[in-house]
Amino acid sequence: MPEMPEVETICRFLREHVVGKTIAEVDIRLPRLVKWPSPGDFRSLMVGRTFESLERRAKYLLFHLSGEWVLVIHLRMTGRLFYRDNSQSSNGCARVVFEFNTGDAMEYSDTRTLGTLYLLKETELNRIYGLTSLGPEPLSAEFSTEYLTAGFAKRKGKIKTVLLDQAFIGGLGNIYVDESLSRAGLHPERRANTLVEAEIVRLREAVNFVIEKSICENGTTFRDYRDGAGNKGGFQNELCVYGRKGMPCPVCGTAIVKMEVGGRGTHFCPHCQQEPR
Ligand SMILES: [Zn+2]
Repeated sequence: MPEMPEVETICRFLREHVVGKTIAEVDIRLPRLVKWPSPGDFRSLMVGRTFESLERRAKYLLFHLSGEWVLVIHLRMTGRLFYRDNSQSSNGCARVVFEFNTGDAMEYSDTRTLGTLYLLKETELNRIYGLTSLGPEPLSAEFSTEYLTAGFAKRKGKIKTVLLDQAFIGGLGNIYVDESLSRAGLHPERRANTLVEAEIVRLREAVNFVIEKSICENGTTFRDYRDGAGNKGGFQNELCVYGRKGMPCPVCGTAIVKMEVGGRGTHFCPHCQQEPR
């Protein structure tokens, strides 16, 4: 599943290729991916508009169009966005194709078809609940030790589950939570309200390190993520615990354990990340 570093990688790539381009046609091959408005209106409202800018919020991509419209795309599990130049032909797997008047195109494909596309006015973005309810993102100024300390004090849940709550921290997903807890030396089942200040400082630094490093490596390819040009990310080579069940911990050599926490597959080192006190 693409997480925040992968979506950031796609965002940076597409920004180079689609901003300034004007849409000549929208070919909607799987109409149910378009959640708002109707597929017919989605198409007719987009044709003739120009991509003015592109931003990412957590795992959402926001394409700002001329006339104060915004195309919002959430890739969910298997959504992918590719740019093709005017020498390439359309991919048969593409579900929605945005053709530019320069002959090139941006193509959306999605094997499990769980992704979502919306077209809204700038002033209507609050219609997407998942977008307006997002907490501060890692690497932002709001993602501070003070914010985490106050938030953890109110939460009795397991730290892993708390970190995955998008309303508390925007954009942190399963792979990066496991890696951050590993780096901070915290057991995934620790109760959030039992963390002491030194642990919170360590955890915040670990989250920022893992996210920044992953963005530098163009994300993590675990199964089928590809960036906007079809390349794999590089962070899978840096993983300490995620997907490494039974393999030695890079720090101490103990076999990595996989268990379920809050319904999510969770990897950790039983030696470096001690049981909850
Ligand atoms: Zn270890």
